[in-house]
Amino acid sequence: MAQETILVVEDEKDILDLVEYNLQGAGFRVLRAMDGIEGLRLAKSERPELIILDLMLPNMDGKEVCRRIRQDEHIHAIPVMMLTARTEEIDRIVGFELGADDYLTKPFSPRELALRVQAILRRLKEAEPAKALIQFPGMIIDSEKHRLEVDGQGVDLTVTEFRLLHYLATNPGKVQTRDALLDRVWGYTFEGYARTVDTHIRRLRKKLGAQKDRIDTIRGIGYRFREDI
Ligand code: CA
Repeated sequence: MAQETILVVEDEKDILDLVEYNLQGAGFRVLRAMDGIEGLRLAKSERPELIILDLMLPNMDGKEVCRRIRQDEHIHAIPVMMLTARTEEIDRIVGFELGADDYLTKPFSPRELALRVQAILRRLKEAEPAKALIQFPGMIIDSEKHRLEVDGQGVDLTVTEFRLLHYLATNPGKVQTRDALLDRVWGYTFEGYARTVDTHIRRLRKKLGAQKDRIDTIRGIGYRFREDI
């Protein structure tokens, strides 16, 4: 099996070395970049399977790198895991503004990081459900083309957003707890991760536009996809 490539963009050499060591130990090929511009360049030229991106970087910060990745038609779907020392940034990192798929706050356990990377890549490789096309009035979810259409217009979703919407829409009318969504969409659970679900839902609703009411909030429990709006 070909080795999967992970791009690590981090300006602190000690952390970069540690992350590289752990990812290599987990069987990955690792590309290194120590500033944002170099990171973006490698993302475009190497198209890694996943990008680990520090928030505070010289030349171009992690936010801008992430934004540019999401705007590039060739690399927009590559999962991005952000590293940040600032917990107050988390909502915005996983929010629609940046479109990161996951994050870790510093200091983090390098082993946990490797496990998270494996979980993200594993869920990407899982077989798509048999039903390739899910349709509701004004909405088409095409899992083969990984494409969402709202009122005839294509909508750009990140890998995680697509999986989240797809999972909800595959089970319309059913209330999904945050834990269940974490388990099915993210592939792991982690304390404090309920917030991640909420921010992804917020971002997804925003992108759904006229169809945003399809996702109901069930207070204190989770979310539900509505067949009728
Ligand atoms: Ca940094």
